[in-house]
Amino acid sequence: MIHSEILKTILGIDHGFLTKLTSHELSQHHIFKLCRVKQVHGSNVVSIEDIKKLDQHQTEEADIIITSLPRVALTIATADCVPLLFCDPIKKVVAASHAGWRGTAQNVAHATVQALVHKRGCDTKEVRVAIGPSIQKCCYEVDQKVYDGFLVKIFFTPIPGKKDHWFFSLSEMNQYQLIEAGVLEKNIWRSSLCTACRPDLFYSYRKEPETTHRQFSFIALK
Ligand SMILES: [Zn+2]
Repeated sequence: MIHSEILKTILGIDHGFLTKLTSHELSQHHIFKLCRVKQVHGSNVVSIEDIKKLDQHQTEEADIIITSLPRVALTIATADCVPLLFCDPIKKVVAASHAGWRGTAQNVAHATVQALVHKRGCDTKEVRVAIGPSIQKCCYEVDQKVYDGFLVKIFFTPIPGKKDHWFFSLSEMNQYQLIEAGVLEKNIWRSSLCTACRPDLFYSYRKEPETTHRQFSFIALK
């Protein structure tokens, strides 16, 4: 399991980015109840208010989950997309979100920060964020459709000899969006691990399009 430097020093939370080798550890986590939603590459928010209703959220279409309840592990499943884990240690709130290119184009990072501010009264300067392993610029080749989805072009690198194709740094784009949303750069941790480069650790949709396996990321208040 991979832990971020920024979150692992915060007392009162537990978090992790699981790999192929550690995926069983989440289901063995008897202390927490797992909370999942139906991820649809959007920017809808689900706020978890009642531990008895966790099952109902499983069919709810959303890519952002937020809670102040203890012992609820907000869980995101990915295979190349960017998992984002949030914590405000002052307000004692956690959130998790899922950002593929479509979600990132809808600024799911900003929407999560806004949910923390408006639903829980968080101060953006207190918010800590860990950006988990995802497909990185080395492997993430995109076409015009993705390029056109973003106003900010600084994370696209043209590919020599390949017109209208770029390498795109999705995780850096998310980091940029978090800073634009008011999160301090010093409070953001970003994994440089590439899910497509490391089949020993991760499932990758780009590497194996037929895969239905996903890696899980979670965050919970203890
Ligand atoms: Zn790579």
